[in-house]
Parts: sequence; structure tokens; C-alpha cells
Amino acid sequence: MPTYRALRRRMRRLVPSAAWLVLFNALVAAALCGVCAVMLLEMRREIDERAKVTARSLVTLMARDIARNVELYDLSLRGIVDGMKEQRVREADPELRHMILFDRAATATNFGLIALLDSEGSPILTSRPMAPFNARDREYFQHHLRDPSPDLFIGKAILSRSSGRWGLPLSRRVSHPDGSFAGVVVGVIFLDHFEQLFATAGRQAGDAISLLTLDGTILMRDPRPGVGTNVAQSPSFQTMRAAREGLFDGTAMIGQDERRFAFSQVGDLPLVVSLSVPLETIYAAWWRKAIALGGIVLILCGATLVLTALLRRELIQRRKAEEATARLNDELRQLAVTDPLTGLNNRRRFDEVLARDLRRAQRTGHPLALILLDADAFKAFNDCYGHQRGDTALRTIAEALVRAAARPGATLCRIGGEEFAAILPETTWIEAEAAARRIRAAVIASALPHAANPHGVVTVSLGVACLSPGTGSAQGLVAAADAALYEAKGGGRNTYVMAPASLSGPRAA
Ligand code: GH3
Ligand code: MG
Ligand code: MG
Repeated sequence: MPTYRALRRRMRRLVPSAAWLVLFNALVAAALCGVCAVMLLEMRREIDERAKVTARSLVTLMARDIARNVELYDLSLRGIVDGMKEQRVREADPELRHMILFDRAATATNFGLIALLDSEGSPILTSRPMAPFNARDREYFQHHLRDPSPDLFIGKAILSRSSGRWGLPLSRRVSHPDGSFAGVVVGVIFLDHFEQLFATAGRQAGDAISLLTLDGTILMRDPRPGVGTNVAQSPSFQTMRAAREGLFDGTAMIGQDERRFAFSQVGDLPLVVSLSVPLETIYAAWWRKAIALGGIVLILCGATLVLTALLRRELIQRRKAEEATARLNDELRQLAVTDPLTGLNNRRRFDEVLARDLRRAQRTGHPLALILLDADAFKAFNDCYGHQRGDTALRTIAEALVRAAARPGATLCRIGGEEFAAILPETTWIEAEAAARRIRAAVIASALPHAANPHGVVTVSLGVACLSPGTGSAQGLVAAADAALYEAKGGGRNTYVMAPASLSGPRAA
């Protein structure tokens, strides 16, 4: 039958320790959270990257489109300026001159009237017939009047007098051959054109697309609020001014929210196209996914940990119950081999140990000694002092036996009513004799009064048998010790007798 310790060891090997289980599951939960976090971060990075690419390509396309249209329109203006330098054109028939100067580009729907103004601001020629007007007060006219540069000028948005629509005036100075001011050629790109362009960009709710001049005036914006505002002081606009194109996160130019800006200058024109997207809308979809996925993973981890805690409790309880059972079994096993009166080993244990020690002695070649002892005239003691005091006397004899013979490896037993035994492994004939002498003396030293004993105290008789290395049997050893005890009784009691030499060496008294 396995002992309590062996059972415990075996259980430990079979059932994983509760601490290991908790650690393993905690690591699994942590790994799950880690993988989820890495996935979410990677997803966020991808969303971020995609948003950047989309914003960049959108502003680049819009800037190209605007630049191409302005260039096209400017070609018409330049055509008029160059044409008017030619005397033949100036003097041509008005209908023919109109055909030469105003090409088809000037009649596109998004382009307004093109007019050639004289040095006083009155129209000399117009691409379409219209009522007389004067543009002297216009910003572009004043600019060319002051500035002799032949470059294209893009002014602030104006409300077209001819069409009643808002538009961006594009103008060039017309000079006399001597360089003096001869007038202005001006055309208007309607802001509707930009509105249509911005609409095709697929703007999301919250996004803002703007066309700005380099001095910070918003010419066009989708959504509309903010058109005409000057945002030159806004830090985000200043960032845009510092480069031809780029992408950055900053505070809105109109409003206070944090936005992602993508911007590009329009060709070599003093214009900037910008797209701004609120940061929260970029990550809104990500947040939804992160909350859903993170929630599921957290619930899974939580459930794993709760189940682990329950399992751990169950394991601990089971282990405790098994340990208690094993301990109880041990105690029962101990009780089964213990003499209840004296606490020494009982007869059953005596038989087991004697057989075991005998085998061991035969295997190792060591000697083995057996001492049997019997209380003298004990029936008379009981008769004289009563059974209860008889029991006490038996306990006293047991204590004397322990005092005199207990040592590592020795097994001390009560094998019958008033009979005891000491199994002494690795004990020589001489050592066994000394032990017998010590036991006899220890019992006498207990000085238990015994009126019916000629010595006046409780005494014992002892029979000693020694097994020479590699010989004999358990029965033979017991029989020899018993015979020696019988002889000791016969020899007057309170003495020991050594078994015959054939078994245990020379005889002694
Ligand atoms: P001897 O010197 O020849 O051994 O004589 P004895 O009286 O000791 O031997 P006997 O075999 O005639 O008697 C043994 C007595 O031991 C009988 C019994 O009353 C007593 N005895 C046996 N077991 C117990 C016990 O557990 N308690 C008590 N008090 N007495 C016991
Ligand atoms: Mg007896
Ligand atoms: Mg006796």
C-alpha cells in the first residue's frame, strides 16, 4: 500500500499545480490581449496611412485641375494682349477681330465674360455683348494701374456685374509700346466651377476643402461658411505657407477642432488648395472596431480568468480532500500496527518487520538479533493489585524497554498479553546480550512494587537469539528466542538466556 507521502507525490505529478494553471491561463489571456492590441494598432496604422494617401492624391488632383483651367483661361487673356499688339488686328474688321481675339475657351460655361478695358476702365471689347460698365474701381484694375508687371493677377472674388455670379477675376496689364498703361484684359472664373470640382472630390461630412490665396483669403470653401475670411494668422495656414505641398495635423483654420490637413499649391499661381479632415472622423471606424474587438477579447479573457479561479478553487479543494483521505489512511494504517495500551508496535507489525529485517540481513550479510521478554508472575500481580494497575505496569515495562533498546532501525513491540519483543538489525551477539542486560536493569530500575515476586519489584525474563549472517529463518529465530525465554523462566526468572550457539553463537547466562 503506498504511503501518504508517495500518494501525494503521485498526485502532484498527475494533477497540474493550481499555481501553474493560473499562471498558464493568465499568460494565455495576456497573450490574447497582446495579439489583439497589436492587431488594433496595425489596423489603426493602415487606416491612418490610407487616409493620408487619399487626402494627398485628392488635393494634388484638385490643384492640377485648377491650375490647368487657370492656365487655359490665361492663354486666352495672353492671346488678347498679344493680339492687340498687332496693328493689323487692332485695325481689323470688328467681327473678324472678335473671332481672332476670343477663342472658344473664353465661351466655356464656367468662364465669365472676358473684357478688354481701356486705360479708364471702360470696355473696348467684350467676349459677349453686354451693357456698358466701368471697372476702374475694381481691385485688379487698380493693381495693373499701379504695377507695370505683365504677370497674371488673381484678385479677390467679386460679384460679376454681367452675370450676377461670384467669380475669381484673372487679369493682365495691356501696355503701350513705350510701356505706359494702356488698359487691362480681365476674365472671371466662376466660383461654381470650384464648387463642382470640390463636389466631385467626394467630401465626407466634417471635411472642408478650401481654395485660398497665398495671403490667407479663402476664395472658395466647401462647405460655404468661411468664404472671404482671412486666415493668415492661423498656425495651420502658416504651416501651409511654408511648403508647396504637404500633410500635417493641426488646429482648424475656422473652428478649434484638431484636423488632418493635406494641401498643395496650385501650379505657380498664388493659390493653395487644402483639404482638412477632423481627426475623430479618420479614427471613428477604427474606434468602433477597437471597442467591439477589444470588448470581445476582454470578455473572453475575463471568462478565462473566472473559470481559472473556479478551477483553481476546485483543484485546491480536491487536493485538500485527497490529502485528508491519505492522512486518514496513514493514521488508520498506523493504528492497525500499533498496540493501543503501550503505543509500541503490535504483533502484526512484529511479524512484518521481522520478515523484512530478516530478508534485508540475508541480502546485506549483516547480523540480526531478536530479544523476547515476558513479565514475571504477572498473573499474581493482577491478582494482587488489580487489572488496571496491571495495565499501568505493562506501560511502565514498555517505557523501560524503549529507554534501554530504542535506536535507529530497532523495532520494539508488544506481541502478547505481558510479552514484548525487540528486533535489532545489524546487532552482534555481544551487542544483543548488552541490550538484554540493559532492558532487565531498566525494568528493575522502574521499581514497581510486586509483593508476589521474590525480588519485591516487577521483573522480566528475556530470551535472546542472534542470526549469523546469511542463515536461518524468521520462525527459527523466534523459536530459538522463545526457547531461551522458557529457559530463563525455568532458571528462576529475572534473567536473560542467550539462544544456542548453532544459531547465534556461544551460549551465555
Ligand atoms: P510467568 O512468570 O510464568 O510468566 O507467570 P505469569 O503469571 O506472568 O504467566 P501467565 O501466563 O500464567 O499469566 C499471564 C498473565 O498476564 C495472565 C493475565 O492476567 C495477565 N495479562 C495478560 N494480558 C494482560 C493485560 O492486557 N492487562 C493486564 N493487566 N494483565 C494481563
Ligand atoms: Mg506470558
Ligand atoms: Mg509472564
